[in-house]
Amino acid sequence: MDSETRRHIDAYGAVQGVGMRPYVFRLAAGLGLRGYVTNSTGGVHIEVEGDQGRVREFELRLPQELPAPASIATMEQRTLAPCGYSDFRIVDSLPTGAPTAVILPDLATCPACLNELLDPAMRRFGYPFTNCTHCGPRYSIITGIPYDRANTTMAAFILCEDCRREYFDPGDRRFHAQPIACPRCGPALDAAVQAAVRVLSDGGIVALKGIGGYQLLCDALTDEAVSRLRTRKHREEKPLAVMFPDMRMLKRYALIDRGEEQILASPAAPIVLLRKAGETLAWQVSRSSPWIGAMLPYSPLHHLLLQAYGKPLVATSGNVSDEPIVTDDDDARERLSSIADAFVTHNRPIARPVDDSVVRSIQGRVTVLRRARGYAPLPVLQPKPLLRVLALGAHLKNTVAIAVDRQVFVSQHIGDLDTAEAFRAFQRAIKDLCTLYAFEPELVACDLHPQYRSTLFAETLGVPVVRVQHHMAHVAACAAENDITGPYLGVAWDGTGYGTDGTIWGSEFFDVAGAQFRRIGHLRPFRLLGGDAAARDARRVAYSMLRDIGLDWPFGWTRNEEVILRRMHQGATNPPWSTGMGRLFDAAAAISGLATENRFEGQAAMSLEAAIGLNGDDDRYPVEIDGQVIDWRPVIAALLHDRQAGENPPTLARRFHNTLVAVLLDMAQRVGRRQVVLSGGCFQNAYLVAKSIERLEAAGFRVATHQRIPPNDGGISLGQAVLAG
Ligand code: ZN
Ligand code: ZN
Ligand code: FE
Repeated sequence: MDSETRRHIDAYGAVQGVGMRPYVFRLAAGLGLRGYVTNSTGGVHIEVEGDQGRVREFELRLPQELPAPASIATMEQRTLAPCGYSDFRIVDSLPTGAPTAVILPDLATCPACLNELLDPAMRRFGYPFTNCTHCGPRYSIITGIPYDRANTTMAAFILCEDCRREYFDPGDRRFHAQPIACPRCGPALDAAVQAAVRVLSDGGIVALKGIGGYQLLCDALTDEAVSRLRTRKHREEKPLAVMFPDMRMLKRYALIDRGEEQILASPAAPIVLLRKAGETLAWQVSRSSPWIGAMLPYSPLHHLLLQAYGKPLVATSGNVSDEPIVTDDDDARERLSSIADAFVTHNRPIARPVDDSVVRSIQGRVTVLRRARGYAPLPVLQPKPLLRVLALGAHLKNTVAIAVDRQVFVSQHIGDLDTAEAFRAFQRAIKDLCTLYAFEPELVACDLHPQYRSTLFAETLGVPVVRVQHHMAHVAACAAENDITGPYLGVAWDGTGYGTDGTIWGSEFFDVAGAQFRRIGHLRPFRLLGGDAAARDARRVAYSMLRDIGLDWPFGWTRNEEVILRRMHQGATNPPWSTGMGRLFDAAAAISGLATENRFEGQAAMSLEAAIGLNGDDDRYPVEIDGQVIDWRPVIAALLHDRQAGENPPTLARRFHNTLVAVLLDMAQRVGRRQVVLSGGCFQNAYLVAKSIERLEAAGFRVATHQRIPPNDGGISLGQAVLAG
């Protein structure tokens, strides 16, 4: 049945010993839904299955009709394939082993606190550190467990009479709100919001101490201001996130559906990728990209500033280039003073860096692309207990994870481990996670790549090391967050990962049964001319592939370049072999005339996806699958033919995507596993994911995609933890 769905909901907050399970039972059973509700040490876990409309109604009513003492601080939801529950039942509490308290993520300002903030009659009028039990900082201020005020960075602020009364009054919204504060007793700003507004109006840049780190802000409607920020921050090309004063203004600049609206307004309040529409921001914000990374104010300080300013602001991490986000005040003065014209800081310390999260809605499912503020460190629950594994993640978009019995705690996004500064942040994050959960690993999991800093670091810890192949980790992460235990076809498509044969992989098909991975398919290998240079210059990959079929790159090189590339292609300098799907995207983008280079990871592939537009037919290119090898040569030849025949780039882009979907379907039919699991950075592509789900499901397959955990390398640590554990 098409209209049946299954949703898994993890609810956190005051949800234990408050009659939650009977309440959920009545609500679900009353709506005729099937499934279960259960408790763990951290929260309440619910599964509801049934008619889509009723499941939706359940999710809307769940937080609204709670029994009096209960409150849900935050929820994580995901869509799963229906599994045929026969009724709704209350299930015994899940034993999660060690009594690990769940630490809540930082929660966006709730409507009640926002009202107080803006009401001149209230004692917290205009107070930028207003919060309550439903909202406010959590993970970014916690210094130890248990979570009480003494174990937060608020410890030094002694409650005043009024706050104390609220804190101890069970009838008050601030009953036991650990970060409770007011103008008399709490933290204070060291600069006026009005001064920051003046700097911004003049096109200046403001460094603002936010929730999980410093942010850099500037006017999002003035190219001059944004250019200045880009130059000073050494960020040439990558799109910048924008904070809008409210939903109404945001809707003037972007297409937004009901699901996206809910995510934006949720306690996690992440950056959501939306399609540009209507009025335009300064071109420099996201240049030719068709998407805006948009968010709403999520702390009282942001609300005050955005209301006073009244226009959208670029709000990007406070750092230079790709370094870790700055959290410390002295560090900020040192590292950000060459970028910012003014500072807005305060005296509430930040315990650990927590960047803004980034999500995208794909076919109505939230897919987290960067997991940090609002989500970290909520655990991913596993069906069976795991060994105590510390997983070190990948080299790019690094996260680390620890497995504690049935729970895996994935750290917040740490970043690329290219610089010494980033590597120190990585080490700090590991220490921090282990200290918080009093965790001592019995195993360390890392990537197979022998030269990764994280791999070398693993060897120094004095604990047995398990090396996990990159793409197996991708696939295992997706299976883990979708509760898949049976055999499945695992597909990992990304740019780069070290293969078990020492070459670069990235288009893997695995037949997976238990912990057994059999590699049963991949792209025909091609040479990366100039190694890393080929990952930046999409034309080099196109050239290499065209030469493999005896064709030339017809769009111009200098004579010199041509000579060098030709020699490399013949084997000079021994260029590495690759089967990375990300590179095939690059070649297709270059031949289509849509992109020539990757000035940030995935740029060329993004322009290819963006070119497709919203609708289109299902035509595609021929492709040959010979045993395990997917031969891209007919695809590349056809792309070039179409381009030279004058077809427009959107058509080429669509045909290319459809071809890949056909490859997935073909492989799935060959292997014959009913369950298909899609992972890897290529599956951040909404068109690819949507079409794959559509075609595979129509053919009777079940498709699991990432939702809570990133499809990109941010998900690797989870996969490593699960496979090693
Ligand atoms: Zn609140
Ligand atoms: Zn107070
Ligand atoms: Fe990857």
